[in-house]
Amino acid sequence: MRGDSEAMKSRQLGDITINRILEREAPLARPLDWFDKALPEAVEPHRHWLEPKALDPETGMMILPVQSYLLRTRHHSILIDTCIGCRKTYDGMPEWKDLRDETWLDRLAAAGVGPGDIDYVFCTHLHSDHCGWNTRLVDGRWTPTFPNAKYILAAKEYAASEAAGTAVFLESVLPILEAGQAVLVDMDYALDDQVWLTPAPGHTAGHVAVNIASQGRNAVMIGDMMHSPLQLAYPDWSLNSDDDQALAAKTRRHFLDSHCETDTLVLTAHLPSPSVGHVVPHAERPFDFKYLSA
Ligand SMILES: [Zn+2]
Repeated sequence: MRGDSEAMKSRQLGDITINRILEREAPLARPLDWFDKALPEAVEPHRHWLEPKALDPETGMMILPVQSYLLRTRHHSILIDTCIGCRKTYDGMPEWKDLRDETWLDRLAAAGVGPGDIDYVFCTHLHSDHCGWNTRLVDGRWTPTFPNAKYILAAKEYAASEAAGTAVFLESVLPILEAGQAVLVDMDYALDDQVWLTPAPGHTAGHVAVNIASQGRNAVMIGDMMHSPLQLAYPDWSLNSDDDQALAAKTRRHFLDSHCETDTLVLTAHLPSPSVGHVVPHAERPFDFKYLSA
């Protein structure tokens, strides 16, 4: 597993401490398999800057981390997204089915936090790699992993997950409701003046970004607004599996335009380690991403 030291590194945003908690990072899919608009001749000119961290030179697959962000404010310990988890039966992504590696929990502990310490869990959306550790299997029952947490879920996202009724909903979402730990909110919900949501629809209808502010500094966790740095070159490339590809592209383009050359620290779900940095302009393509050092 790559990136252990990176995953453990703490960053300070004003008086908020931010840790990236990595679950895994591996080649996952070829651009042509995931992006309807991708053509080999469109990918080729970008291989030199995407390889080897974002694009695997051997397989041509995009390398994606799956990870959470831990925030510690003066008042709360907060997790944003909860990765894939263990023993999940959803088979939409076969590589992620029935995992048994609990290293993610160890990394959370190494950051100084146990499951009982988490006050809030935010999910940018309710796909299998963003809500998996919401629960774990205890004595045959899916049980909230964080016994003292409120789980903040966009009501619109919850409704779509319920309607889909997949194993993700049954194993990672419904048990949170049944335990009385879910708080269904609007897509612009604010926990306080340091942590709040903004709508970022397209990948899913209820997808949100999580904004963070402290002492004049800002950060935002963008969830699945972007899956690869290739989308810095082609912001209109949306995933085949996005609920609404045109809306996802519009959301991504607006985000990149409005955050380019700003001080806002961007926390990504799936750009390669170290995964956090700033959107900047580039001479030969619409945008670039300046990663913070690991
Ligand atoms: Zn994802």
